[in-house]
Amino acid sequence: MTETSLRFLVVNAHPHDFTHYAGTVGIHTTLGDSVTVVVATSGALTHNEKLSDELKKPPEERDPAILNEPPDEYAAQKADELRKAAALFGVTDVRILDGPQPFLAQQNPHIIDQITDIVQEVRPHILINQSPYLLTGARKGLLSGYLEDDHIQTAFAVEKAQYYASTPRPGSTLAPHRIAASFYPGVYFPREDWDFAVDISDWFDKRVEAENLFKSQGHWEAWSDKRMEVTLGNHGWYSGTLYAEGFVQARTEILPKITLSPFTLRAAEESPKDHMERIVGSPKPD
Ligand SMILES: [Zn+2]
Repeated sequence: MTETSLRFLVVNAHPHDFTHYAGTVGIHTTLGDSVTVVVATSGALTHNEKLSDELKKPPEERDPAILNEPPDEYAAQKADELRKAAALFGVTDVRILDGPQPFLAQQNPHIIDQITDIVQEVRPHILINQSPYLLTGARKGLLSGYLEDDHIQTAFAVEKAQYYASTPRPGSTLAPHRIAASFYPGVYFPREDWDFAVDISDWFDKRVEAENLFKSQGHWEAWSDKRMEVTLGNHGWYSGTLYAEGFVQARTEILPKITLSPFTLRAAEESPKDHMERIVGSPKPD
């Protein structure tokens, strides 16, 4: 089989959600694959740390400039942060839709229509979607995965759009399109549910930089360093590499034969010391 360049469509509930698999995106744009980033809502109601801090103060101490900042301005800041973050990973095609928050798929058929149009326009081979699973396999899954959560509702909207895009629509000039494979970011699942992890060690610095861009969510350098080290470092540690991003694949993939990645083969062949050095990212001193 010859290698063809792949078209990716990645859909998120909020701007920052893109960062959870951005290292993998960077690997693909570098290989010449194209990536379109879609965000269903502006994220204006999510993680407004400045406003949150202000509202915790006694009323007379609150800064009216922060209290009265129009949501549009905050949304524009988030859009700007996302565009800059996407650019770090070679993505220029960023589309922010006007889904309201809280976002409910069924109440926003225009968002489903817009995503349907984007699927038929971009004609992706690969979709990275929010996880549509309510329970994440753990008892505490319900805490992060309740039915009206923006992420799950975005996943529902995309599942619908995917179906609509694959069937001919009366009145539409766009040809139907079926997406070959869908993946969900591993961050929404317990690690035992992951199908694979991508080695993003070369993209770690960019992931820290991207995290740091989201000033609207209160991030700063030490936070970004810490968060990326403990999350990507943890994923790497358990996957047998320096830093990794996990994925769950929506359907079983048909392969021409059993295939092993070079990482898997190397991990089996290298010495324990080499393996430890690789996970640490630097040589053991003599
Ligand atoms: Zn989010």
